[in-house]
Amino acid sequence: MSFMSDTDTPLENVDLPRIEKAVREILAAVGEDPDREGLHETPARIARMYAELFRGLHEDPRVHLKKFFTEKYDEIVLVRDISFNSMCEHHMLPFMGKAHIGYLPDGRVVGLSKLARVVESVARRPQVQERMTETIANLLVEELNAKGVAVVIEAVHTCMTVRGVRKPGSVCVTSAIKGAFRNKPSTRAEIMTLIFGDRSNTHLP
Ligand SMILES: [Zn+2]
Repeated sequence: MSFMSDTDTPLENVDLPRIEKAVREILAAVGEDPDREGLHETPARIARMYAELFRGLHEDPRVHLKKFFTEKYDEIVLVRDISFNSMCEHHMLPFMGKAHIGYLPDGRVVGLSKLARVVESVARRPQVQERMTETIANLLVEELNAKGVAVVIEAVHTCMTVRGVRKPGSVCVTSAIKGAFRNKPSTRAEIMTLIFGDRSNTHLP
């Protein structure tokens, strides 16, 4: 039997009571009363939220790249500003931003929404931005056999804005550049201009 939450998260892989117990522990440990009225539903709510935020752990992002079209198109494909939310694995605080994915096809082209699904799947797990960037780029190289891949991610890390150094407004930018985008300066310049060219209407959350 499989239970689905209101956000279509398969919950059968997640031990919700265990999360609830742990959240009660944290509340008690910081000096709260977990039985206080306002906190009554909190452990159960957080358990369901974690199931949702980490559902990528039970998915293989690769499946979204298995259905490709064979297309004689050998120019750059770029999807810019794919928004995502992820969870910093060092602090368990969210980081959010935009991913830009460009590739130079070698006969294999995927539906544009599939790239967004890959980002979503890779983001929904305890993550670090650098690994997320590299993972997405490698998936495109492996599954599409693309001649070149460029993934750039820009994100705001709440672990830097609400705690620690508290630097609101700081944006972390990471990139993974493969194949022709790495080796050919003109191709690299072209993709970077496409990604960063006109930033006037780009807003991070
Ligand atoms: Zn962090």
